[in-house]
Amino acid sequence: MASEPATVRCPLCGGDSAPAGTKRGYEVRACGDCGFWFVHPFPSAQALNERYSDNYRGSTATFYPKLRSRRRRAFVKSIRFWRHVAGRRVLDIGCGGGIMVDAFRRVGADAHGMDISANSIAFARNRFPRATFYCEDFGAMARRDLVFDFMFTAEVMEHLAGPHDCLRMIDALSRPGTVIYVSTPDIGHPAVPETTLDWSEICPPEHLQWFNRANMTRLFDGYGFDLLKAFAKRKAALSLLFKKRQG
Ligand SMILES: [Zn+2]
Repeated sequence: MASEPATVRCPLCGGDSAPAGTKRGYEVRACGDCGFWFVHPFPSAQALNERYSDNYRGSTATFYPKLRSRRRRAFVKSIRFWRHVAGRRVLDIGCGGGIMVDAFRRVGADAHGMDISANSIAFARNRFPRATFYCEDFGAMARRDLVFDFMFTAEVMEHLAGPHDCLRMIDALSRPGTVIYVSTPDIGHPAVPETTLDWSEICPPEHLQWFNRANMTRLFDGYGFDLLKAFAKRKAALSLLFKKRQG
């Protein structure tokens, strides 16, 4: 029996989406309103938990790959954020083994990190005992009575099944003036191939959703954040700072 294809609403803005094609056996769709791209259907929360809870990218409770070079790069990066971080309460969302959290601590932050990978958090707690780590998902973290001055999320958003769980948590843990840094691939960037599906960042089930600057700004605006700064990138990546509005 033939039936009309069901409408699939954009998980970011609720607009109509259309199929953009298939990659690695996953249907990829694009929103006609905001330009958000996403895998449909998203893998289940259980499938994502299984994917990230144990030995993601070869890390274990006692081993983290390329630790020395990662620490060096994290320290250089933390200096870039110094004025948002020094003397502030900071949260790294999707912190993995806690390397960036430790870098923030070294430049003077009260540094916290969260991740759903139990092994990564075990590693982080063992290796960086002066920072605070949470092995929790967005919902559990959002219910904690915590407020952060600065939040950091780098190369995490593209792994999530929809943007709103993460944004609800960010909203719950922020106050007016809280600054958040976001980096993720930029599907609106001129460096993305004309045949978008050939772009290497479209690699489900590792990556599940793709933003551009306008829809990321619209997403944060919906939770009370203004775009503070957009760092120019030669490669197809978003690198944005948002700030929570007053009242
Ligand atoms: Zn949309």
